[in-house]
Amino acid sequence: MRDPRYDILFEPVRIGPVTTRNRFYQVPHCSGMGHRYPEADLSLRRMKAEGGWGVVSTQETEIHPSSDISPSNQQRIWDDHDVDRLKKLTEAVHEHGSLAAIQLVHNGIHTANRLTRIAPYGPSDMVVDVEDPVQARAMDKADIAAFRTWHRDAALRAKRAGFDIVYVYAGHDMTLLQHFLLQRHNSRTDEYGGSFENRLRLFREVLADTRDAVGDRCAIAVRFAVEELLGADGLQHDGEGRDVVAALAEEPDLWDVNLSNWSNDSQTARFSQEGFQEAYTAFVKTVTTKPVVGVGRYTSPDAMVRAIRSGVLDLVGAARPSIADPFLPKKIEEGRIDDIRECIGCNICTAGDNTVVPIRCTQNPTIGEEARKGWHPEIIPSLAKPEAVLIIGGGPTGLEAARALAQRGADVTVAEAGREWGGRVTKEAKLPGLATWARVRDWRMGQLRQAPNVELYLDSPLTAEDVLSYGIRHVAIATGARWRTDGVGRLHRSALPFLSGNAVVGVDALLERGTAALSGNGPVVIFDDDRYYMASVLAEMIALSGRRVTFVTPASIVAPWTDHTLEQRRVQTRLIELGIDIVLLHQLGDFRPDVLSVECIYSGRRREIDCSIVVPVTARLPVARLWHDLSARAEVWTDHGIETVERIGDCLAPGIIAAANYAGHFYARKLASAQNEGCDAYR
Ligand code: ADP
Ligand code: SF4
Repeated sequence: MRDPRYDILFEPVRIGPVTTRNRFYQVPHCSGMGHRYPEADLSLRRMKAEGGWGVVSTQETEIHPSSDISPSNQQRIWDDHDVDRLKKLTEAVHEHGSLAAIQLVHNGIHTANRLTRIAPYGPSDMVVDVEDPVQARAMDKADIAAFRTWHRDAALRAKRAGFDIVYVYAGHDMTLLQHFLLQRHNSRTDEYGGSFENRLRLFREVLADTRDAVGDRCAIAVRFAVEELLGADGLQHDGEGRDVVAALAEEPDLWDVNLSNWSNDSQTARFSQEGFQEAYTAFVKTVTTKPVVGVGRYTSPDAMVRAIRSGVLDLVGAARPSIADPFLPKKIEEGRIDDIRECIGCNICTAGDNTVVPIRCTQNPTIGEEARKGWHPEIIPSLAKPEAVLIIGGGPTGLEAARALAQRGADVTVAEAGREWGGRVTKEAKLPGLATWARVRDWRMGQLRQAPNVELYLDSPLTAEDVLSYGIRHVAIATGARWRTDGVGRLHRSALPFLSGNAVVGVDALLERGTAALSGNGPVVIFDDDRYYMASVLAEMIALSGRRVTFVTPASIVAPWTDHTLEQRRVQTRLIELGIDIVLLHQLGDFRPDVLSVECIYSGRRREIDCSIVVPVTARLPVARLWHDLSARAEVWTDHGIETVERIGDCLAPGIIAAANYAGHFYARKLASAQNEGCDAYR
C-alpha cells in the first residue's frame, strides 16, 4: 500500500489541453537509439510508461535536414515517413495511459550537418561549436521565415503522430532559439539582435507559431535553460535567465527548466547532490502560474514531495532516475520504496549517447535491451525446472547474477572471500565523491536478503577442491580483477622493469588501505594510462591527505574518457584547484630513488620529477586462478555433479561496473534458456 505521504505525487496535473495522471515526468533524454533503432527506442519509452511515468518524452527530435547531428542517434521528424515511425512510439506510450511528449529541435550552430551537407544556420557568421572545420551562415530574413515554417510543419507532423505535448526548446546551448537569445552567439544588428527583446523575438515567434499550429489539442512546453554557470557571459538565473521566464511567463502551457550546457544539467554525483538544480530553478514558479517541471537526479520520494510542497516544482522531472529504474513511480505507488533501484549519478548513460551506441546503465542492465533481447527490468522468465547455482565472488557481477537467478527461482549460493559484500563497488564508494556507488551493492543485497532461495557466505575464499566437493550443478566464477603494478596499459605494452621495487604502490593497496598504503610523506606520482575516473579520484584522495601529487598521463587532457560522462572539465579543474601538477603527453621513462623520469610521447625528450612513490593506474588482470584450476579438472566435473562452469564479469575481461552488472544479468538470463547475444537484432 502507498504511504499517504506520497499521495501528492499521484495527483493529476493539467497541462494546457491535456492532463497527466501523476507528477512523474520523464523529461526528454537521449537513448543513443532514436531514428536509427526505432524499435529499440520505442520499447524503451513504452517501458517508462508501463513503469508509471505520467509523461514520457522523446529525445531531441530534429525538425529539418538543416539540423542534422549525424552520426548521433537522435530522433528525427523531417517528413511524413518519420511520422509513421513516431506514431508507433506514441501508441506504445498511450497503451499504458501516459502522455507522449516530443522535443522538437533545430540545432543551429551545434551541428555540422555532416550527412545533409547543408551549411548550418546561426544568428551570425560563426564557426560551429562541434569539432568540424565548418562555419554557420548568418540567417537572413528569408532563412528566418523558412525556419519558422519548418518548426510549424514539424509541430503539425508531431500532432499527426499523436503527441500530446510539443516542445519549443531553447536549452543546453544546443538550439537555434537559444543561440539567438545569447549575446555571445548573436551579433545581429536587425530586429533579431541587440536588445533583450530583439534577441528574444524568434523564441517568442516560434512559441506563438507552435501554439497556433497545434495548441488546440497539444500542450506547448518550453524547455529552457535558466542558468549557464558562465557568469556574465551566459544566461543567469538572476539575470536574463529570469527575464526570459518573466517575459514569456504565461505563453507556454508548461515550463521545463534546467541548466545549460548538458554537462551542467546532468552533473554526476561526484560533483553534485540530489536536487542540485533547485538553487537555480526555484524562482520560476514565482513568475508564472503555469506548471513547472525540473530535474536534479531525484530518486527519493521524500525529496520529490519536498520539491513540490516547497513550491519549487509541480512535476518531478527525471531522465537518469527513470533510466536506472523505469518502474520508480510504480514502486512508490505500491509502497515498495526499498525496491527502488536508485541512480548512482555516474553518467554511463550519457557515455552511450556520446559514443553513438544505444544507452546502457550501471544500475539497470536491461536498459536498451528491451527490444533486442526482450528484457524487462522487473520481469524475468522462471526456470523451467529447479536449478542450483554456486556463485563465487560477491562483487557487482556475482550479486547481480545471484539476484536475477533468485528471481528466476534457482537455488543460489554466493561465496565471497572477503568480509564485506560488493567487491570493487564497496572499495570505490569510499573514494572522494563516489559514495553513491554503494547503491549498486545495496540494492542487490536488499533484494537478495528478502529472497528465500539464497544463501550468502562471507569469509569464504573457495578453492577448486571446495567447488568440486560441493557438487553444485552450475558454477559461476565472478572473482573479479586486480590492478596491475607493472605499468602495462594502453601505451606501455610490456612490463616496465624499473617499476618492480617497493616504491610502487598499486591501486588495490590504496583501495584497501587508503593513504595508509603510502609510506613516508614524500611526493607521489600518479601515472594514468587507464584514462577514466580512477587515477583522478586517487590523486584527489592523496592530495587531500596533504601530500604533493603529480599527475602524469600520455593523454592530452586529464581523464579523457570522462568527456563521455560529461565530467572532464570538472575533473581537470578539481585537480588544478587541489594544486596537483599535471604533466600531459608523457610516458614513464625510468625510476630511481626519489626521481621519476618521464618522456614526451612525441619527441622522447625526458624530464625528471621528484617522486618517492609511483602509483601506476593502467589496466587490470583477471583473478582467474580458480577458473584455471577448475578448468584443469574439467574431466571430473560430472563425477561431482557439476554441469557448467563459467567465468563472468571482471574475471573474464575487466571493464566498467556497468559491464560487470550486465555480465551478471546476462549469465542469469542465459542459464538453462535459449537466450543468446542477439547482436544482429538491433533495430
Ligand atoms: P566484479 O566487478 O566482476 O563483480 P569484483 O572485483 O568487484 O569483480 O568482485 C570480485 C569478488 O570476488 C571480490 O569481492 C573478491 O573478494 C571475490 N573473490 C575473489 N576470489 C575469490 C574466491 N576464490 N572465493 C570467493 N570469493 C572470491
Ligand atoms: Fe544513473 Fe549511472 Fe544509470 Fe545513468 S548510468 S542512469 S547516471 S546509474
